[in-house]
This record gives sequence, structure tokens and C-alpha cells, in this order.
Amino acid sequence: MIEGARLDGKVMVTGGAGYIGSHAVLALLDAGYQMVVVDSLVTGFAWAVDPRATLVEMAVEDPQMAGVIAEHGVRAIMHFAGSVVVPESVSDPLKYYRNNTAATRSLIESAVATGVPHFIFSSTAATYGTPARVPVAEGDPTVPINPYGWSKLMSEAMLRDVAAAHPLNYGALRYFNVAGADPQGRSGQSTVGATHLIKIAVEAAIGKRGGVGVFGTDFDTPDGTGVRDYIHVSDLAAAHVAMLEKLVAEPTASHTYNVGYGRGFSVNQVLDAVDRVTNLTIERRYEGRRAGDPAALVADNRAILAALPWRPGRDDLDTIVADALAWERRLAERA
Ligand code: UDP
Repeated sequence: MIEGARLDGKVMVTGGAGYIGSHAVLALLDAGYQMVVVDSLVTGFAWAVDPRATLVEMAVEDPQMAGVIAEHGVRAIMHFAGSVVVPESVSDPLKYYRNNTAATRSLIESAVATGVPHFIFSSTAATYGTPARVPVAEGDPTVPINPYGWSKLMSEAMLRDVAAAHPLNYGALRYFNVAGADPQGRSGQSTVGATHLIKIAVEAAIGKRGGVGVFGTDFDTPDGTGVRDYIHVSDLAAAHVAMLEKLVAEPTASHTYNVGYGRGFSVNQVLDAVDRVTNLTIERRYEGRRAGDPAALVADNRAILAALPWRPGRDDLDTIVADALAWERRLAERA
């Protein structure tokens, strides 16, 4: 509550009806902030927005955005809205440059026009492309290997330039592999046709799919399958609250941080965890590599740990899987 009182207005969360955004809304409400959610509901769900937040059904580039910001007394924006499917960004790049880069440009313009002083941006480890080293640090080269990564990197560049020219500071958070669900069962990954490994594995566990394809067994990793840094969505949400508090406390500084746990698990290790948690043996179909997948992507998270009071609370693969599974069962009951 004390932290919430420090911001002299509301927080706007764009994409607050989506997976990560809805968890950020919960974390902000739990910390005592007042909220307005803007979501087009194209991929999000109105039911995913906690009723304590005001939901405005609108695209972020809507000409009415500045009016909504002013009307609600918004003093910080957390921008989650956007398109997130990497292979789709390859086949339809202009969709990504519109929904991610151009929409973000429009939102930043609305923020500047209305004098919003703080902006938090959902960035991604995809900005690194194939990382120069693992774990990868914020200062390492950013050479995306797909339009999704470029669309986000271009948004980071806009924020850098705008923060130099206007009274606005920002936090760009580069997410690694987000998974799991709210431990209290209030939200989770609900996207139809999801492509992410843990989501697919828990769908298989409850019988929504026959098994799981393992994309590539010949990577230069300990067991040949791809290694990723899986982070619990509630820890990621908590990082946003901590980031906001830093932006408010130090209004002239901006930051870019990796948000991950700093350790990687292979596809096989993830599927072992799913088998352990479910007491099942989910079928694994060993297949070829998926286009554009780096062998390993793990966060060097020393910068965020040094700068913010944020500490992982659910840093355990079985916990992530168990929370994802519990949500998948709820979704199945809902259907
Ligand atoms: N993966 C897999 N089978 C799937 C989905 C993903 O083997 O059905 C692998 C993928 O090749 C990568 C890891 O799991 O090594 C994580 O992929 P995901 O799509 O979850 O996230 P990404 O790292 O691509 O953002």
C-alpha cells in the first residue's frame, strides 16, 4: 500500500487482459495501485481482468488514448499489448511492425503529450537473436533473428530517444521464457493455439493433445535439446512492480534489464518435470529443429538483482509446471 501511494495517480496497463498483463494487474492491485487496463480484446479476455481494475476496450493506437490517460489521471504506463508469435512475425512482418513498433510509437506519443512520467515496456530476450554468450547480459550485442525481436528492439530505441528528449523515464524488461500461472488460480495462460513448451506440455498432460514434439535433438547443449531460462509469470509480474517503484523514486534514470532466473533447462528436462508433477509419461516425438531457434538462451540477471529489491519467489521448475497445470485444469473446466 505504501508503495502504491508513492505514485500520484493510476497505472495504465495495456494488454492487461492477456497472459502476462493480467498477472501484472494482479501484482499491482495486490500492492495497492489503482489501475486502468486498456486492451483491444483481440487476443485477451475480459474475464482475465480483475474487476478492481477499470477495463477500457480500445487499441493502444486509438486517437482517444490521450483522452483516456488524462481522464483517469494515469501517471505510469506498463505496455504489454502486442503480438507475440515468433513464426507469425516471419510470415507477416508488417503485422509485427504495426502492432508492436507502430502501436508503441503511438502510445509513447500519447504519453509524452499528456506528460506521463514513467513507462515500462515488455521487451524480450529475442532482441539478442543468437546470443554472443550464455548467459547473455544487457550490454551484449542485440541482433534479432526474427521480425518479432526487431519490432521490440525498435521500440526500445524509441524509448531511449524519447527519454533523452522529454521528461519521461522508462524500464525496458527483456523477458526470457515466461510460464506458469497465478498461484491463487486467478489467471493463467489462456491463449488459444499456444505454441510455448510448458503450455503445450500441460495441454498434453490433461489430454488436450496426444504428446509433445521435441524440436531438435542435435543442439550444442548437454542433452542436445534446446535450453531456456523459464521464469514464473508471477515473479515476472513482481519485477514490474519493483521496476515501477525505482522509476518513481529516481525519475531521471532509465533502465534495461533481463528478467530471468539465470539458469537454463533443456526441453527434455522440462518434459521430465511435467512427467514428475503429473505422474504420467507424456509421449515425446523427437523432431527436427524449428526455424530460428537458438540452442540456448539464459539470462545474466545480475543487473536486475543489483538494482531492484526484486527476488524470485517461485524459482523452481516443478512449481512453474504445477501452477501451469492447475490453470490448464481450470481452463478445461471452464470450457
Ligand atoms: N519446443 C519444443 N516443442 C514445442 C514447443 C517448444 O521442443 O512444442 C522447444 C523450442 O524449440 C525451444 C523451447 O522448447 O527450444 C522453448 O520454446 P518456446 O516456444 O516455449 O519459447 P521460445 O524460446 O521459442 O520463446
